Amino acid sequence: MEPFNDEDIRMYFYENRLKTFEGWPFNEDCKCTPENMAKAGFIHTPSDNSPDIAMCFFCLKELEGWEPEDEPEKEHQSHSPSCYFIALKKKVEELSVEEFIKLQKERHKSIISKSCKEAVTKFEEAAKLRRAEIIKTAMGEE
Ligand SMILES: [Zn+2]
Repeated sequence: MEPFNDEDIRMYFYENRLKTFEGWPFNEDCKCTPENMAKAGFIHTPSDNSPDIAMCFFCLKELEGWEPEDEPEKEHQSHSPSCYFIALKKKVEELSVEEFIKLQKERHKSIISKSCKEAVTKFEEAAKLRRAEIIKTAMGEE
């Protein structure tokens, strides 16, 4: 992974996150507006069945089932207390290069850990199926 790949750092910027909230179901008279969502680090990642899925671009935590009175920053903190981005005291634009590189390292850790978890889940599912087949075969041979 290139540490300064354009695509990879794009979502560090508020404006780019905000642009993803097209079609977001909460716009007026509520706390989880696109602006507040983007400020709290979220990007909009809807699926066919759930138009309100949002994911932190940094820790990759996905949250859905938003209510108008949900405060994006608080929700982010409570569901992902170890996220470095939500704990950041400065704006990304104000970070030193060194601070930014450290942050990027943490982000890549989140990406790797998420893909490992997905791989483990896939493996476990495959193993479960295989085990079931083995048992079936063994029973049949009795
Ligand atoms: Zn996060």
